[in-house]
Amino acid sequence: MNTNLTVAIVGVGLIGGSLALEFKHRLGIKKVYGIDKDPQNLRKALELGLVDEAVSLDRGVRDSDLIVLSVPVDALPQLALEVLDMVDNQVVIDVGSTKVTLIKAIKNHPRRKRFVATHPMAGTEYSGPKAAMIGLFTGKKVLVVDAQDTDRDALSFVKEIYRAIGMNISYIDSDSHDLHAAYVSHISHISSFVLALTVLDKEQDENNILDMAGGGFRSTVRLANSAASMWTPIFLQNRDNMLDVLDAYIDNMLAFRQAIASGNKKDLNILIHRANMIYEILNITQPNILTTKTLSHEWKE
Ligand code: NAP
Repeated sequence: MNTNLTVAIVGVGLIGGSLALEFKHRLGIKKVYGIDKDPQNLRKALELGLVDEAVSLDRGVRDSDLIVLSVPVDALPQLALEVLDMVDNQVVIDVGSTKVTLIKAIKNHPRRKRFVATHPMAGTEYSGPKAAMIGLFTGKKVLVVDAQDTDRDALSFVKEIYRAIGMNISYIDSDSHDLHAAYVSHISHISSFVLALTVLDKEQDENNILDMAGGGFRSTVRLANSAASMWTPIFLQNRDNMLDVLDAYIDNMLAFRQAIASGNKKDLNILIHRANMIYEILNITQPNILTTKTLSHEWKE
């Protein structure tokens, strides 16, 4: 891959900062510019060596081959239009978690075809430049959305970059993207937020939470640390799909409530067995840490 490139990252947080690290340290790209509305985040990104130089949006767009938009989804449509207004033949990508609103906003822009909408399916519950990490994208999937609406050379360039940082590419249209993102990713976050809220409501004493918080609780509540600045706009932009999946979620909650209230063992078993199927789909196998020998040894004791 040609590494004699300049890349501008707009939004030097978790995703933008992690991409910057990959570009600089894995691919050896010549120059990575950082642009952010938050001067503190920009300073931190420089201090951490995520980017080479902090520049204005105008300069970043003018002097770069690739412009990466990595800001919350409510800021993306306006930013994308602003950047496309300044673009000549450069390539622009976004990494946002919703696509329909953004793609509608840029639909009629004369340079729409220089824009490639993408969603790397990788992240953590942390945000800001300090959360950036190398290796975040390795072996993960990236969705290229409405690929038919982009120039061929822009698409090939973006595919080459994502492959070079170890990602596997899949294609999807924007409506399906937002629907399935709601059904799998966005509902997981609501579920974790609701779990945290419920425990906080019910347990007044923090010590009880600490005493009871084993691995199961910690892993289930992990996403509740995610930032409101990122998730509030996602839920609101993906409103109809969120309402649809929330209704299904509430129905399942009520089914558990009903089975427990009526002491219906059979219904509870059915619900749990149906839920267990997700492990097969994700191809997760039970960790085999204890050998038969150590197991029988422990049983004897
Ligand atoms: P983040 O860590 O909060 O970083 C976003 C950065 O953009 C912050 O420094 C923020 O400043 C800045 N910013 C906000 N509005 C801006 C604007 N108009 N112009 C320039 N900078 C602006 O967020 P992130 O987790 O990296 O998410 C970035 C994008 O990636 C989002 O669209 C998100 O949907 C998508 N995404 C996230 C994940 C994930 O797991 N986090 C995964 C895949 C995709 P302030 O902090 O001052 O607001």
